[in-house]
Parts: sequence; C-alpha cells; structure tokens
Amino acid sequence: MSNPIAHPQSKHHNLGDWLGLHGLDNQTCRHLLDEIKKERAEIPANGDIPDPQSAGLNPDEVWTKVVLAMCSFLPEHQGVIEETFERSTKIAVAARGKSRKALTIDHGPAKYPTIMYNYFDEISDLFVVAHEFGHALQIRASEGLFMPPVMRETCAFLSEGAILSSCSNEPAYIAENSVRYWRKSNKRYFGNLATRLEKSLKNDSVIYEYDWNYPIARFLALRISAQFSRELIWDVFSGSYSIKRVLDKLAI
Ligand SMILES: [Zn+2]
Repeated sequence: MSNPIAHPQSKHHNLGDWLGLHGLDNQTCRHLLDEIKKERAEIPANGDIPDPQSAGLNPDEVWTKVVLAMCSFLPEHQGVIEETFERSTKIAVAARGKSRKALTIDHGPAKYPTIMYNYFDEISDLFVVAHEFGHALQIRASEGLFMPPVMRETCAFLSEGAILSSCSNEPAYIAENSVRYWRKSNKRYFGNLATRLEKSLKNDSVIYEYDWNYPIARFLALRISAQFSRELIWDVFSGSYSIKRVLDKLAI
C-alpha cells in the first residue's frame, strides 16, 4: 500500500500526519467541528418506533436499487456506474453477530474493485451497499489519482445520500425507515465520532484513528449534495477536489 495512513489499521501515523495529508490545520478542523455541532443540533428526533427487523429486499434487489439511485443521481455517468457495478467483484460475507463489516478493495486503475459486505435483511443494507459502491465508483472515476481518506468517505456518503433520495419514491415502509436510519447515522457521526476527533485535536502526536475521517466527510457530503452541481459532484468522485477546495467553494 503506497500510503499507509489510508489504511484503517495504521499505527504509524499521528494527528499531525492526518491533518497534513488532508491539507488541514488544527484551527480549520475545530471550525469544521463547530459547524458539525450546529448540524447535529438540527437533526430531528426519530421518535419511539422500534428498529425494523426486515426490509424485505434480497441482495440482488438491494444492488438494483443502489445502481438505479446512482444512475438517477449522476445520469451523465450512467455508463461508468453500470460498468463499475457489472465488473466489480461483489462478495456478501456471512454476518457474525450484529457487527457490520464492509470493505472495498482498490486493485489499481487497470482493474475493478472488490466489494465485501454483510447482508442483514434490514434497511441499513441499502446504505451499506450504497456506501461501498460509492467507494468503488470513486476508485474508478479517479483513475489511480490518490484521494485522502476524508474525500473518499465523502464520496461514499454522497452515494448514501443518493439512495436516501431515491427511497422517498419507495413504499412508505422503506421511505420512512430510510430517513430514520439516515438520522440515526448522522447522530453517530456528528455526536460520538465528532467528540472523539475533538478530543484528539488536543495532542498532535496522538495515534491516527480511521474514525476521524467520518464526521468531516459526512458533513462535507451533506453540504456538497445541497450546493454543488451534479457535474462538480462528479469532479469530487474523480479526485479533483481537496478538502480546502471544497471548503473554498462552499465558503466555509
Ligand atoms: Zn467508507
């Protein structure tokens, strides 16, 4: 692996390396976390409805919905989207307990990625598959260009946003529960994970954690999907945008 900081298990990098890799500094990161706190305060409550046990979708149906959602989100790039779906290796791994495992492996620009994921027969399957397919698409669109982890995760979250939008046209059961799942995820990314990143910012030599990437990526994905044109969103998938360029464009 050419850039070990991109690997979730890396123990050889620290906060300073992570900030540097992303062209971020401590102050900008704190500013982003302040914006994230405001975003968290605006997430509506989910109510007391229990989590669903089954979404009634088999893995093929989940994949079909994800690919259609991405084609409708980025219609100009339907060819790449369909080719990435058809040619990537997709492996549904048996789930152990309730812990989610999903991973997209980049084999370089000459090959198609491998997507591994758990299938739980829940609404969350749509988002997990959309997330990993976002990684696969970003790998294909960037054609070997290095993307730092926050920008890669931003693409994966943009893809989750695409499935959320498409679910509004689904039967009420899927439409309502996908919104609840999205809000619950936002609470986690903008709550616990953002708090952990905030604590880590106090020490430049603290060991790198992959989870630091998620709050900022989720926040950027929300703003990008609200404010960027579809063509600029494709540029994000292609690796043309650094965090700094995104922040400049969003005037954050
Ligand atoms: Zn991811």
